[in-house]
Amino acid sequence: MSERESMYNEQGQVVGIKAPIYLKYNFTAGAAAARFLQQVKKGVLTGQRCPKCQQVYTPPRGACAACGVATEEEVRLSDKATVQSFTIVSIPIPNNPIKPPYIIANLVPDGANISFIHLMSECVNEEVHIGQRVQAVWKPQEEWDYAMDNIRYFKPLDEPDVPPEKIGKIPVTGWEG
Ligand SMILES: [Zn+2]
Repeated sequence: MSERESMYNEQGQVVGIKAPIYLKYNFTAGAAAARFLQQVKKGVLTGQRCPKCQQVYTPPRGACAACGVATEEEVRLSDKATVQSFTIVSIPIPNNPIKPPYIIANLVPDGANISFIHLMSECVNEEVHIGQRVQAVWKPQEEWDYAMDNIRYFKPLDEPDVPPEKIGKIPVTGWEG
């Protein structure tokens, strides 16, 4: 469909306009995420455990969505993780040096039950799979900030795959196969 066809209907009436916008905003992390980001600045991943269902959430939001109770207990997590799901992206990220195709994955860090989204690299895209073991590749320490992009990406580990039913159930001490 051409640009003209997409903006007018058959009667020549305008049915849409292109209006690129740029939003500049400040993100207020909140108490739980602020504590998480303070640890990320030190190169440490943390989660919070629900006192009721024992699930460990990362990044923590300060409450368990399933139980509706506050999560106070901080849990230190590994920077090793398991691929829960992934997608191969063919569209470039604006102003990002990563060239497509690249992998975006839902990764469950050891010790947590919930995944976060991050990049994978140093991998053969076609060989990435659910259950694959990966580890964070951190930026140089002097570049660390209050941000998850302190981790450049996750790279594959030479460890046995985690069976799908065990993803998100690995203790922080690690995966023994
Ligand atoms: Zn809970």
